[in-house]
Amino acid sequence: MVHSDSAEPNVREAQPAAPPLICPACGGANAPDAVFCANPACRKALGGFAYVREELKKETRWHEALADRVVAGIGKPHFLGVHLLWFLAWTAINTGVLVMAPRFDAPPFALLGILLAMETIFITGFVLISQNQQSKYDAKRAELDYEVNVQTFRKIEELETTLQLVLARLDARDAAGGNAQD
Ligand SMILES: [Zn+2]
Repeated sequence: MVHSDSAEPNVREAQPAAPPLICPACGGANAPDAVFCANPACRKALGGFAYVREELKKETRWHEALADRVVAGIGKPHFLGVHLLWFLAWTAINTGVLVMAPRFDAPPFALLGILLAMETIFITGFVLISQNQQSKYDAKRAELDYEVNVQTFRKIEELETTLQLVLARLDARDAAGGNAQD
């Protein structure tokens, strides 16, 4: 039953005071008492929180990720600019304004119509997939909000009970002190 106590303090010294906080969003290590992520591109609140976007990203399939990127691209003014240039060039070539290029789609531009109809079908599909993703995200966030609200409510109830106990004890102590002074 010989036990060496001398090794114990060394083990304690070797252990760090607290493990670094790992950011759930970017995975970066932070100081144990940090509140927000030190990564300037991230800056998320640290702690036992689940992040809706990160959680959904894990479940996202390739066509959903592609739809989000396509819809983000469509939402930019470049999309309109590219189409404007495309229609101008198409019209100029096929009406004979640009003489050096051969005409390939005489007015009323049947080929252009088919291409645009195809583009519309794909864009509609991507927008719908992206909207489904967005509503999934909203539902998940509402669920998390509700969960946090319930937890906060329970914590406040717990605090109220504790506070009432403390007040009752203080009252009892005051009453005892008053009786002793009388
Ligand atoms: Zn981070």
